[in-house]
Amino acid sequence: MNIEPLIPSAKPTRSTPASTGKVWLVGAGPGDAELLTLKALRAIESADIIFYDQLVSADIRALFPNGTPALYVGKSKNHHSIAQDDLNQRLVDQALMGKTVCRIKGGDPFVFGRGGEELMTLRQAGVNAEVVPGITAASGCSSSAHMPLTHRGVSQGCTLVTGHGETEVTANWQALAQLNHTLVFYMGVSRSEEIAGQLMTHGLSGDTPAAFIENGCRANQRVLTTTLGALAETAERDAVQSPALIVVGDVVRLADQLAPEQFLSEAQQRSIA
Ligand code: SAH
Repeated sequence: MNIEPLIPSAKPTRSTPASTGKVWLVGAGPGDAELLTLKALRAIESADIIFYDQLVSADIRALFPNGTPALYVGKSKNHHSIAQDDLNQRLVDQALMGKTVCRIKGGDPFVFGRGGEELMTLRQAGVNAEVVPGITAASGCSSSAHMPLTHRGVSQGCTLVTGHGETEVTANWQALAQLNHTLVFYMGVSRSEEIAGQLMTHGLSGDTPAAFIENGCRANQRVLTTTLGALAETAERDAVQSPALIVVGDVVRLADQLAPEQFLSEAQQRSIA
C-alpha cells in the first residue's frame, strides 16, 4: 500500500463526535473544474480529508483547500494502487472518527467507478454517506466534442459499455451491433481492435463512423474521428492515451456541422462574399 499525501497534513482535525462523521461520495466530472457541481465544490471545501483518484484533474485538485489532507488512492502506471477493501475501510474509519470525508472520483461515482461498492460498504458499517452525482465522461466528452449522444433521426439511444476485461471484453456483441444506438466504450483504447472486430463480425459496417475523445473537457482534449474499420489503426497511429472514450455511431458525423470552426468558417465566407 502506498498512499502519498498530496499536501502534507497541517490542518488540525475537528473534534466532533463519532456520530457526525460523514462521507461525501463525489463525482468530479470529466476534468474541467467549471463542470463541477456546486454541491461537489461544497463537499470539497467542507472536508476534513479528501481521497481522490487519477481521473480527478489537476484543475480540480487545485480547488482542494490548502491544508486539507488529500490522499491519492487511484492507480496509474507510476503509482501502486490501494486495494479497494483497504480504501473502503479507510473511509469507514475516518467517518467513525467523526471526520467529514470527501471521496472524489472522475465522472459520476456510479458509472464504472465502483462507487456502488464503496457506498454499500459505508451503509453496512452504518456510516452516514451521500452521493454527489457528476457528469459522466460519455456525456461531458461527447458534448464537448460536438457529438450529441442522441439526435432525432440519427440515434434514438445511447449505450455505455466498459471495454475493460481480464482477458477479453465481455459484452453481448450481437445485441450491441443491432441496437442502432450510439455506443460509448469506456476504458477501451487498448482493446480497440477487439471492440471494432467484434462489432463488425456481428454486423456493423466497417464504414460506421467512430471517434476517440482523449482528455475530454480538458485543455488538451483531442478528438480523432475515424471509422470502425480503421479504429485500431487510428489508436496506434495517433498514439491515443488514457483517459479516452470510443464513440461509435452516426452522431460522430454531426460534429462536422456542430463544431464552432464550421460556423466560423462559414461566417467568414459570408463576410468575404
Ligand atoms: N466514473 C467515470 C468513469 C471511470 S472509468 C465517469 O463517469 O466518467 C475510466 C474511463 O472513463 C477512462 O478509461 C475513459 O474511458 C473514461 N474517461 C474518464 N474521463 C475522461 C475524459 N476526461 N476524457 C476521456 N475519457 C474519459
